[in-house]
Amino acid sequence: MVGLYQLSEEHEALREAVRALAEKEIAPHAAEVDEQERYPVEARDALARSGFNAVHVPEEYDGQGADAVAACIVIEEVARVDASASLIPAVNKLGTQPILLSGSEEVKKLVLPSIASGEASASYALSEREAGSDTASMRTRALRDGDTWVLNGTKAWITNAGESTWYTVMAVTDPNAEKKANGISAFAVHKDDPGFTVGPKERKLGIKGSPTCEIYLENCVIPAERIIGAPGTGLKTALRTLDHTRPTIGAQAVGIAQGALDASLAYVKDRKQFGQRIADFQGVQFMLADMGMKIEAARHLVYTSAAASERGDKRAGFIASAAKTYASDIAMEVTTDAVQLFGGAGYTKDFPVERMMRDAKITQIYEGTNQIQRMVMARALLKG
Ligand SMILES: Cc1cc2nc3c(=O)[nH]c(=O)nc-3n(C[C@H](O)[C@H](O)[C@H](O)COP(=O)(O)OP(=O)(O)OC[C@H]3O[C@@H](n4cnc5c(N)ncnc54)[C@H](O)[C@@H]3O)c2cc1C
Repeated sequence: MVGLYQLSEEHEALREAVRALAEKEIAPHAAEVDEQERYPVEARDALARSGFNAVHVPEEYDGQGADAVAACIVIEEVARVDASASLIPAVNKLGTQPILLSGSEEVKKLVLPSIASGEASASYALSEREAGSDTASMRTRALRDGDTWVLNGTKAWITNAGESTWYTVMAVTDPNAEKKANGISAFAVHKDDPGFTVGPKERKLGIKGSPTCEIYLENCVIPAERIIGAPGTGLKTALRTLDHTRPTIGAQAVGIAQGALDASLAYVKDRKQFGQRIADFQGVQFMLADMGMKIEAARHLVYTSAAASERGDKRAGFIASAAKTYASDIAMEVTTDAVQLFGGAGYTKDFPVERMMRDAKITQIYEGTNQIQRMVMARALLKG
């Protein structure tokens, strides 16, 4: 039966188009981007030229209005060749999702068209050094002053900081709120706002092409209308955002794992030991089978979670955490096995699998560590 539990023709066509672009324009630079720890400008330009930089932006804001599954497919296919580059569409979605969920028409019109066109990009600033998993304990403050908000504080670990134009910043507006979570608001901050600066790049294990920096807000003044949603709703918006974007981290993990499996399949057919292809050893075949099986399962969970977020399914939060956790855990397993299948060669920079193994690790950490995801899932299960 056509259409029963399968992706649409449009989704498959999108995958084909992104894969072709990724192989031609992004893959050739991936090793150098990692080695030189530089922003993947070739990927940025290619994605913007083809309209794959932020497919999720709705048509009324000059975007393509692609659904959540389509956004995952774009991220997955880019991650298959370069995880750092996949953070361009992923973080554009993460940075703008709070605006899509809670922003005023004015903020939407201000930010979204420039993201859709590729002229600008967006980052998401929730974490602080002392407020990682425990987001509600953040200390960055925003004070209302006439027609403006004045922000002070330091946000940490901000992906694509320095490259992005817009920053969705969560800050405390009511330090006396009975529940800390209800005293936090969200704001759209522009890179040229007075008092906004970006710190040095973190020196990281992987995703080296994606800058991660602190951002400093020192008497940073923004117009009052740039608040996203009502005062006190910022953390709620930030966490609802993650229900929509954890599937995209799952997609990134699936893409990295698929890239590692594809590289492994090519290698085992070529490499000979004991007078035969290593692909002919059953021990190797069983490893390949497990890698393929895990990726297949993760991919289904990721698309299901993306569709649930799009529908506003009441289980979307649970499924999003499940997808992010499962996909990132298997990405770590699959990439580690890929290095194993390459033997000594896998441990060198002559092949892409060591980079993929390093890149996979972050998917278990950001947008909430996998321990925090398990807390979210258990809470949802126990609540019933
Ligand atoms: C490369 C990179 C990019 C990032 N990008 C962004 C970004 O763009 N925007 C942004 O806002 N943030 C970003 N982050 C921050 C990221 O989301 C946090 O690092 C993450 O949420 C964990 O917070 P933490 O680092 O403070 O770790 P901690 O919260 O200190 O956790 C340390 C360990 O303790 C465990 N732990 C903590 N609490 C519990 C608990 N209750 N139960 C069980 N275990 C627990 C954690 O799972 C972890 O293993 C990024 C981080 C990195 C490394």
